[in-house]
Amino acid sequence: MVNNILDYLYASKNKYPDKVAVADDKTSLTYTDLVGNAGNVAAGLLKYVGRRKPVPVYMDKSCMTLAVFMGIVMTGNFYVLLDPSHPVERINNILETLDADIIVTNEKNIKKTDKLGFKGTIICVEELLSSEITGSVKAKLDSIKETHMDIDPLYAIFTSGSTGVPKGVVVNHRSVIDFIECFTETFNISDNDIIGNQAPFDFDVSVKDIYSSLKCGATLRIIPKSMFSFPTRLLDYLDDSNVTTLIWAVSALCIVTTFKGFDYKIPGSINKVIFSGEVMPVKHLNIWREAYPDAMFVNVYGPTEITCNCTYYIVDREYGIDDVLPMGKAFKNERVFLLDESDNLISEEEAKKIGEICVSGTAVTMGYFNNKDKTDSAFVQNPLNKYFNEIIYRTGDLGYYNEEGLLCFSSRKDFQIKHNGHRIELGEIDMAINAVDGVVRACCIYDQKNNKIIAFYEGDTDNKSITHTLLGKLPKFMLPEVFEKVESMPITKNGKIDRKALMEGYNA
Ligand code: AMP
Repeated sequence: MVNNILDYLYASKNKYPDKVAVADDKTSLTYTDLVGNAGNVAAGLLKYVGRRKPVPVYMDKSCMTLAVFMGIVMTGNFYVLLDPSHPVERINNILETLDADIIVTNEKNIKKTDKLGFKGTIICVEELLSSEITGSVKAKLDSIKETHMDIDPLYAIFTSGSTGVPKGVVVNHRSVIDFIECFTETFNISDNDIIGNQAPFDFDVSVKDIYSSLKCGATLRIIPKSMFSFPTRLLDYLDDSNVTTLIWAVSALCIVTTFKGFDYKIPGSINKVIFSGEVMPVKHLNIWREAYPDAMFVNVYGPTEITCNCTYYIVDREYGIDDVLPMGKAFKNERVFLLDESDNLISEEEAKKIGEICVSGTAVTMGYFNNKDKTDSAFVQNPLNKYFNEIIYRTGDLGYYNEEGLLCFSSRKDFQIKHNGHRIELGEIDMAINAVDGVVRACCIYDQKNNKIIAFYEGDTDNKSITHTLLGKLPKFMLPEVFEKVESMPITKNGKIDRKALMEGYNA
């Protein structure tokens, strides 16, 4: 029985020892190299780590980052990628939540860790790689693997939190194994595939890239981030590296079409395009389908909290630009259902009736690290089941069934948005602006049509000072594009900020 994702890694290493497992713009690792490097990392880490603890990895994504992930897993711990380009304050927030003993970084980023004020051990991968796998180290690692359970965490991914503190979703091996088995089988991913990785490693779309590759003995090509600013270079890269499979955020696919990339080149080997993260605009999908009439296109849906995705729809007909592309049906071994406002089940026959999308199954994750309150409010007992324990995740997404009984996305229940592919709680930006000297209060609104976050604020300061402060607190993708100073916030009769009035005032 596969109970550890290392089983995938070792099986692929035995089957394809010299095949490239992962490549970035500087280097590549065969399956043998990947296992070897991960083993060295694990050997070096053993004296610092316990079991089932988070190990933050403060590195940009690369082949070596994957080797570090695997090394951490070999020690019976779980990895948490911290993006070195994010502001110190945010990283420190996460480190505080994690209460970790050690950070793994590399020579490139070690200087930056001085600013973190982290009190534990900071170690470079370059040093770890020189650790020897002695007989006693091997015995220790074997015993860790032997006593591993599939409910042990594999990774945690931090998402934006509405109260200003990012939430760390903890995901165990079982959730990933169950999902990846089904994902690779449903979409025929095999050892013939070269998967072109777009997603950052702290975004769970990358989990599909990484574990589909390791399970199938495919090759993972890490596409340099900079290429997404130059679509022609991106297309050259995809073509030159014979990428077959794209598992990308909608926003990344739209970059190619927005810049009319296919007028320049249609890379030759792509045969699967799997997208998620937000509603795919049919106009853009149609351009992709025209370029690849024989490829499989799939709309997959789901939040990080249910391990990547819970529904899928293989596009099987033409869609007009005003048609709604469905999110489809649940993956095998997952139950996805709609609850109305009184927690009654909405049946597939009740087409168009809107309810909250809820998910049950082994893919439901373990909740938020060190955050019981938030966990308890979203991971709850299935209200339809009063007989035995069944935890479901309430996604906060509203959906409905179409006439064919396929699930479609409607909107969010709260103030979470998707902006250029990033999941953002507007409340987290509100909190950061509220903390700026001179601000009395702030409220952010998303202008979907123009793809802009608008920050309204009341107080005795200006846009420049706010932006300056925010740069030190929030990642760049969370910075509002527009700041609007208001005399006083409009208030609803319930005493809340009147967002509708704010937006009307802005548009007037
Ligand atoms: P994340 O946790 O970053 O993957 O973001 C999950 C959220 O993105 C979901 O709760 C939805 O609001 C949105 N989302 C993901 N996939 C889709 C999709 N295929 N169509 C519409 N919205 C999506």
